[in-house]
Amino acid sequence: MDLIELKDIYKTYHLGELDVPVLKGITVNVAKGELVALMGASGSGKSTLMNILGCLDHPSSGEYWLDGRDISRYSAPQRATIRNDKIGFVFQNFNLLARTSAVENVMMPLTYGRHEMAERQMRAWATELLGRVGLADRAHHHPSQLSGGQQQRVAIARSLVNRPAILLADEPTGNLDSHTSEEILQMFQDLNARDGLTIILVTHDPEVGRHARRVIHIRDGLIDGATPALPVAAGGRS
Ligand code: ADP
Ligand code: MG
Repeated sequence: MDLIELKDIYKTYHLGELDVPVLKGITVNVAKGELVALMGASGSGKSTLMNILGCLDHPSSGEYWLDGRDISRYSAPQRATIRNDKIGFVFQNFNLLARTSAVENVMMPLTYGRHEMAERQMRAWATELLGRVGLADRAHHHPSQLSGGQQQRVAIARSLVNRPAILLADEPTGNLDSHTSEEILQMFQDLNARDGLTIILVTHDPEVGRHARRVIHIRDGLIDGATPALPVAAGGRS
């Protein structure tokens, strides 16, 4: 059984009287430990699919099996629990809190988790993650005192703080220059190779696609030329 199994997923938005069909029968699997790019033109439904994968939204119909459970009909609070447990997010615009230091941004998801961590432990873990993304010396900087690439590294550290099984990144290099994009993409590759983290990069940019081991193309709400999940050799952290 693969980590992610999507079976005939439909999503239709309703705007007043108007139905807007966006996803039109998506069937695709992602194995644990994969690094995949979900690629498609603007408006093809990538973010809609990412919102479903990330348990931010539910499909109109179809099944979403995550780690052996069909979660497609979970309520919003049930989805929130799964999301906190299993999923890390990275966004194009970083989504950091402006008046908060790097280390406190990284700690933020811990402060509304269900664990029992003392403030000092949270800070230590957040500091370790900042070290892992090469920002040990920037822990007390605020976002405005960091470059775009550094802000995205803070966001990556934050996405890892709950030890997710899956990292979802929606156009993570969309606001970065090409040199910085390359650094960020290498960081995703390292996290995948070293820690065995399952990563889905959502993008319209073929350069991002080149950094993935498999590209899933989406066109007008459908998967174009589906490829099977690529089981990953053992070796990464489980
Ligand atoms: P992408 O991320 O590939 O650019 P999106 O998933 O954001 O595409 O959007 C796909 C289509 O769905 C677009 O036509 C968009 O207008 C529509 N859409 C997205 N979100 C909503 C929403 N909340 N309500 C209505 N239509 C939406
Ligand atoms: Mg999008």
